[in-house]
Amino acid sequence: MRTYLIHYSSDIGLKAQNRRDFIRQLRRNIRRQHPAVQSVEHLMGRLVALSPQEEDFSDVFGVAWWAEARRLPLDWDAIVAEAVALARRHARPGMKFAVRARRAEKRFPLNSQEIGREVGAAIVEATGMGVDLTNPDLEVFVEIAPEAAFVFAERHAGPQGLPVGTSGHWFGLYSGGIDSVVAAYLMGRRGARVDLVHFHVFANAEPARSQKVGRLAAMLGKYLPGLRVFYVPMRFYREQISALPRRYRPYRVVAFRRFMVRVAAALAREHSGQALFTGDNLGQVASQTIENMLAVNAAVDFPIFRPLLAFQKQEIIDLGERLGFYELAKQPYEDGCTMMAQRPSTKVRIPQVEELESHLDLTAAIEQTLAAVEIDHPIP
Ligand code: ATP
Ligand code: MG
Repeated sequence: MRTYLIHYSSDIGLKAQNRRDFIRQLRRNIRRQHPAVQSVEHLMGRLVALSPQEEDFSDVFGVAWWAEARRLPLDWDAIVAEAVALARRHARPGMKFAVRARRAEKRFPLNSQEIGREVGAAIVEATGMGVDLTNPDLEVFVEIAPEAAFVFAERHAGPQGLPVGTSGHWFGLYSGGIDSVVAAYLMGRRGARVDLVHFHVFANAEPARSQKVGRLAAMLGKYLPGLRVFYVPMRFYREQISALPRRYRPYRVVAFRRFMVRVAAALAREHSGQALFTGDNLGQVASQTIENMLAVNAAVDFPIFRPLLAFQKQEIIDLGERLGFYELAKQPYEDGCTMMAQRPSTKVRIPQVEELESHLDLTAAIEQTLAAVEIDHPIP
């Protein structure tokens, strides 16, 4: 059995009164996202997970860092022996090392400096390796917790944030473009439970599922336990607008956005979602002016948030690249936008789009559309 030491993000530590709930949810998510894990113990400020296999906890929001470690009793000789054994396993000629000691249990007789010095001396004696505290080839970590000590060589960064499931249940409007992908990631990182709603031009969900939309959802699903994708056909709406007079063209983008949020809000209501979010970004494209976003908000009596509103496009791309989403997200995809986007107005007034809508049977379009929704669990 392998032992993993998992430290949670400082965000969790700060929320004094909710702390217990956050930690409970984090433990649950670790087991859900890593089913081979057999137990997750809370040991005064850190978690200890046991698994028979190699694990990588960098997809669990709320994790600050983690390490595969040896767990020892608070026995000084055993701690030194383990640190020496670990250094021996890693030692190569010419290597320099540093001991990084941390004492969370203040009753332990040695402080962190003394631990570092003593363990360091024992390693020098056993291996002949030199010490370099600023730029070592090998770091030997010694963590003294209240009931146990941990010795390990490699710390891995977690994704930080809050455990998914501690900040409500959100429905994201998801196009498969980089903005909506990054928005979903960031919402999850703040603890949101996320479901995604995707509108597609196809007869059924399969073409969307097998292209970037489904593949990116599976990548997001690694971080977002329980993620569902609601695949929603556009065709019933499109049939209705095909006969609209040309003069309504400038309002079509906003009218379609209003249709999308009506359907998404109905889905959220039915499936216990509390609010919608989108990947909108102020001023980026015609539909993303304040006037047009307000016209979209006015279509539903349901909250809509826009977590990327004030981001620079380049910041979104950089984050998407760093997380490995960008290559796929920028791939071409038939999204029906060419049909919508002929000379859109950047300042739609609500009466204008309402006039357009008066030519449609929206109730019927919404009903037909909802009846044709397909629900996927990208990660079973
Ligand atoms: P993205 O990169 O997310 O596609 P964008 O910069 O291309 O955003 P738009 O295509 O205008 O801008 O979309 C703005 C937002 O509207 C998206 O982030 C998403 O929340 C929502 N949206 C757009 N198209 C769809 C769709 N087909 N299904 C669901 N939501 C959509
Ligand atoms: Mg887009």
